[in-house]
Amino acid sequence: MKLNTENLSQLPASVVRPSYDRCQVKQGIVHIGVGGFHRAHQALYTEMLLNQGYALDWGICGVGLRSEDRAMKSALASQDYLYTLYELGDTNDTQIQVVGAIGDFLLAEDSPEALIAKLANPTTRIVSLTITEGGYCTDDSTGEFLAELPEIRHDLEQPQAPKTVFGFLTAALKLRRDAGLTPFTLMSCDNLPHNGQIARKALLGFAALQDMQLHDWIAENVSFPNAMVDRITPMTSDAHRRQLRDETGIEDAWPVVAEPYIQWVIEDKFANGRPEWEVVGVQFTDNVTPYEEMKIGLLNGAHQALAYLGALLGHSFTHETMQDRQLRKFVRAYMDKDVTPLLAEVPGIDLDAYKDSLIERFSNTAICDQVSRICYDASSRLPKFVLPTLLKQIEAGRPLHRTALIAAAWCHYQQGVDEKGNAFEVEDPRLERVQQAARCGDGQVERFLALDEVFGRKVPESKAFVAAFRLQLGRLQTLGVRRTLELTMEGEG
Ligand code: NAD
Repeated sequence: MKLNTENLSQLPASVVRPSYDRCQVKQGIVHIGVGGFHRAHQALYTEMLLNQGYALDWGICGVGLRSEDRAMKSALASQDYLYTLYELGDTNDTQIQVVGAIGDFLLAEDSPEALIAKLANPTTRIVSLTITEGGYCTDDSTGEFLAELPEIRHDLEQPQAPKTVFGFLTAALKLRRDAGLTPFTLMSCDNLPHNGQIARKALLGFAALQDMQLHDWIAENVSFPNAMVDRITPMTSDAHRRQLRDETGIEDAWPVVAEPYIQWVIEDKFANGRPEWEVVGVQFTDNVTPYEEMKIGLLNGAHQALAYLGALLGHSFTHETMQDRQLRKFVRAYMDKDVTPLLAEVPGIDLDAYKDSLIERFSNTAICDQVSRICYDASSRLPKFVLPTLLKQIEAGRPLHRTALIAAAWCHYQQGVDEKGNAFEVEDPRLERVQQAARCGDGQVERFLALDEVFGRKVPESKAFVAAFRLQLGRLQTLGVRRTLELTMEGEG
């Protein structure tokens, strides 16, 4: 049965569905980057509130800035913007829920004017983002805004027909300022350490190039809460679609699959009001830093630790990497010995229990989370997820061999063939540059570590790290992954 408003009443009784009148909901949130994660996380929290009779002013209008987003818009529009959240776990208490919190979807390329007007409309009080780690146009090694990118130059030259998030946001904020309106809160839900600060710096970096007075108004009036967001959300596969249909009869053009676990810790800094998300379990705090450093260092860092080695060993799903005893041991050692000693105390969290739960979550066999998803865009992810740990390790003179193995595995992975001889596709927006640097032969180590947007300046200057990287890369190339892991674990420090 096709998912749409008309068919809602015919869904199996076990499927949770909107219990509120969708026609009564106003769109107070505009969300840019409607991928899997937003639909499994922020939209779900908002849906839970709506189902409890709250948040009628806080419905969501989705936005896509890229041509690729047309497929999502069409899928959602064909089913009245409803979609199914298909929770998958290894227990039998998982839930299937139809979500109605998204009420509309704008595509920038269809009408930049309509999108600017929506963002400038006084009913829009929060603009939220999941535009991926690479979407903030920021140099990780310096923290500076990348003003010279061609798309940024384009938006500066054509402020009425922008393409990037920064062009759209400043165009709308200018209209709001000129009309004497309160601005919106800009709420990043991307996996970046200090995501609010990064969003602020990038937006102000762009605004400064356009109009200094607007820059000052934004700096004074817009708020940018930092947030830690957590829920493993794989790419929806055809197998997931079929499984949902077989289990429930629902024909959903683009359901979203997610693990049962969900968490959101966010600073209570909203310039123009917010939904009462605390009613449905969101934690508001003054200082999100310890939570995000814990989550990004341990969860996203461990994902990097399992991804390239896992791919080289021929694993396709994260649960396979956890069933691989040698790899699981390495991942746990990285968490325990490399990341944990550098973390501050995290209020209310038992780190050992947290790490046990991560291993359990990575081991979820029902969800089939793709190793390839975690490997994607490594040149943006490694600097956010592993580099902060590495820089602290270098500074403190701590052992580097495990972290060096993660970086060396990423380099070796660029060859695109696993140890069983099967080819895999390496996907990265900076693919050409990275593969050029990873070319085997003389100077490979120096060339690779000179990828300054990934490693910055301090990593290639560390003699200890360069030596550890050279050793691990050499081992991978000559001895293979299994023996390298063995030697690495034998030499544990
Ligand atoms: P996805 O591929 O399903 O969706 C990504 C969305 O971002 C798409 O709408 C795409 O068009 C948009 N986008 C990409 N680059 C952009 C750019 N430069 N400007 C504007 N829009 C851009 O991915 P997803 O699973 O939804 O994940 C998105 C982000 O959410 C991640 O990068 C991460 O920061 C965060 N996140 C994801 C997970 C997860 O498990 N998937 C968990 C926590 C946080």
